[in-house]
Amino acid sequence: MARLIRRQMGILLRVITLEAGGAAIQPLWFGLGARPARPAPANLRAKFLREFQHMGSYQYLEPRLLMIGRLLECLRRMGVFLSAQGPVTVDGFRLKNLSYWARYHCETVMGSLGCLSGYCNARCEFCFRYGSMFQRFPHRILCRSEARTRLKYYDPEAKKGLPYPVDDTGEIFLNRALLEILRAVRARAPEALIDDLTTHGNFLDAETVRRLAELKPVFVVISLNSADPALRARLMRGGRDEVGIRAFSLLREHGIPYIGSIVPWPTIPLEDVENSIRFLDAAEAYLIRICLPSFTRHSHPTAPFKGWEHWEKLGAMIERIRPELSTPLLIQPSWYLRREIRAHVDGVIRNSPAFHAGLRFGDVILSVQGKAVLTRQDAAGELVRRRRQGRGARLMILREGKRRRVDLAEDLRAADDCYPYKPAGYQPDPRMLFGIHFIDPFPLDSVVAMARIIREHPEARRIAVMTTVLGEGLFRKALGLLMQSPGFNLPLRKIRVTVAPHRHLGGNIVVGDLHVASDYIEHLEELRRLGYRPDLVLIPSSFTMGEWGLDALGRSYLDIEREIGCRVELVPTRPVKM
Ligand code: SF4
Repeated sequence: MARLIRRQMGILLRVITLEAGGAAIQPLWFGLGARPARPAPANLRAKFLREFQHMGSYQYLEPRLLMIGRLLECLRRMGVFLSAQGPVTVDGFRLKNLSYWARYHCETVMGSLGCLSGYCNARCEFCFRYGSMFQRFPHRILCRSEARTRLKYYDPEAKKGLPYPVDDTGEIFLNRALLEILRAVRARAPEALIDDLTTHGNFLDAETVRRLAELKPVFVVISLNSADPALRARLMRGGRDEVGIRAFSLLREHGIPYIGSIVPWPTIPLEDVENSIRFLDAAEAYLIRICLPSFTRHSHPTAPFKGWEHWEKLGAMIERIRPELSTPLLIQPSWYLRREIRAHVDGVIRNSPAFHAGLRFGDVILSVQGKAVLTRQDAAGELVRRRRQGRGARLMILREGKRRRVDLAEDLRAADDCYPYKPAGYQPDPRMLFGIHFIDPFPLDSVVAMARIIREHPEARRIAVMTTVLGEGLFRKALGLLMQSPGFNLPLRKIRVTVAPHRHLGGNIVVGDLHVASDYIEHLEELRRLGYRPDLVLIPSSFTMGEWGLDALGRSYLDIEREIGCRVELVPTRPVKM
């Protein structure tokens, strides 16, 4: 046994360096059953346990790290390592050859850092962090040295970096090294947008905003929730609400664009929600994000409100005031209010080419440069093409039943100063083409991929396709549209479109990306009891993370196949803007 372990360790030590108390060690020998001469101090044992548990948060991106961590944990229980200095308690490891491990897709330099802070000092009534909704690992705060290593190995061209842990995002300004880390980001990527800065805003005083502005281009997502300090304090329980509310005007003064976020929790009166939206509109937010209140059975064991009633009231208020606003509203989940696949304009960013051309909320784009567009995806594709060519675009739109022509000027240049769309020194946001805000397009390419998978399984007689409450209608429209295209044929009679309830999360969750494998297993078992046994199940891939197809509980989608006993295929689907 001891020889086997030593041989395995020999292989492992080609990949990792062992650590004791934060220092690298070179073990000479492993003694099975032996005990360290001096037991490790309690704080080190606690540290190992904490760090080891933390390894679990890497499993989505790189389960091999978890495997190594588990192996070391087993060895720690079975015996002792000896180094030249005597017995040592191994309490961590470092990966060798980091350039090999820098192979994980990170869209932005900020994304390569992972979570900046897993802690939050507020206690919002609606926070999902209460209750063990998914697997929970000890929170952590990104330190300077790890940030420096991550930045060193990030390749902005290939958009690849080191594996990062998946953690709940907390309050970033609780990280005392935050501004120093951001300065290191700026040095590594002099022109990159520093985004992914999501904050409750209560630390954004005048001095902090001034220092943030020195790092421009910077983009912030900041929670307002209520522009009334007393109501905000009652809802968020974080303190310093006057600072948080004042932060919006400070960001404007310093030319930092931001998304202002509101969760219209039912304890906040509807009139206050409307006032808060108007507050953000007057403060020239880039977008106003409204997260329709959601809860899970873990965060709120007793439902704080019923069914869709509250969402319906909010929806009616939003639709009433929307035409009066100059700021687009980003409603999440976006398909609740708008379930259509046409190129419906959901708003235009203030001071953008679309804004100056007079495009407005509710317009439907029919053609771009004379080319008909049927869906948002089509319209976005044509607009991307025009923008890449450095040209404007001629649109034909439908407004109040009449066709009109709208001419978009070419998109802005880096030197142009048009807050909030594009302050000086910023590049136009590639997702907001000419400043047009579309909600998530229904992914027609996913339906095309689904058709391909079905063709690869001619033997399948009964095919179950999983969708969501909000996606079901859109899916059927998309299918109807594609069935009209020549060459696209699908054996519709074999297909059953079905919605798996969110049993694990419960509450009023409707977004498919928040499913877990057990939701699908239980739903398929239920269908079986009702006499339906599919031999091929197609599931949107967006409920899994990383390349290993693991759900938020760390369970593989292949477990569905194993438990149900029929073939399961993932249909490539992008996560929705939650
Ligand atoms: S600010 Fe965000 S993370 Fe903090 S308690 Fe509120 S919802 Fe949760």
